[in-house]
Amino acid sequence: MQVITLGTGSPLPDPNRAGPATLVRAAGRPLLFDCGRGVLLRLAGAELLPGMLDRVLLTHLHSDHVTDFNDLVTTRWAMSPIPNPLKVVGPAGTQGFVDRTLAMLADDIGWRMAHHDDLAWEPAVEVTEAGEGVVLDEPGLRISAAFTEHAPVHPTLGYRIEADEASVVIAGDTRPCNGLDELCAGADVYVQTVIRPSAVRAIPAARLQDILDYHSSIEDAAGTAKRAGVRTLVLTHPVPSPFPGTEQEWVDEAAEHFDGEIILAHDLLTIEA
Ligand SMILES: [Zn+2]
Ligand SMILES: [Zn+2]
Repeated sequence: MQVITLGTGSPLPDPNRAGPATLVRAAGRPLLFDCGRGVLLRLAGAELLPGMLDRVLLTHLHSDHVTDFNDLVTTRWAMSPIPNPLKVVGPAGTQGFVDRTLAMLADDIGWRMAHHDDLAWEPAVEVTEAGEGVVLDEPGLRISAAFTEHAPVHPTLGYRIEADEASVVIAGDTRPCNGLDELCAGADVYVQTVIRPSAVRAIPAARLQDILDYHSSIEDAAGTAKRAGVRTLVLTHPVPSPFPGTEQEWVDEAAEHFDGEIILAHDLLTIEA
């Protein structure tokens, strides 16, 4: 299995980090987790056109994780020579989000169908709202979900992917919690969105301080990795973005609490599971 951190940014715009999105290649299939800012650019960077994806899994519906879902739907549909439904798995609320996205796109859908004689169908999106447990079980590929803690965003999901004799966890935004520990138990690769509290506190913006209570800090992520006995901890979605040259400080901070391999992700990094 391969993990490609397509976008490693957060809501804070960064010219070098696209919004949150992670690709997992499992049993020969590309699985997209979240659809942040610039996801199609980074998919192209991973040599994938939108039509090559048939499944997206959303950790939660915070805007930074879904803002380019509409671009995926539109571009995938407009480029496809045949009807090609997109399967979406996400927490409760995903169907409503998808319905509202399609409603937002209605004018554009109408114009493109009026203009292209051979485009005779609207984009189709098949939603599965998932809870705890197995969300996909196919030969050679199993994905399970657990509830995570990111209140007031609720519900939120983390995913564990098992394929190719390996296991990968895509945690999304969450504090440490039992669901996350269960997903991570013995995993080969654990991908966690993180914040660095000392750096957040150093920024004199009162509203930014609010993020401290609903994410994993570097120390939290390392603690989860240690408890679960994972092989590799991948830190992504770092807030605030590390200043160039300070990346190793993030790894060192995690290494105070976890002995395994630690990677601070950048866009389009490939990690073998
Ligand atoms: Zn986020
Ligand atoms: Zn979030």
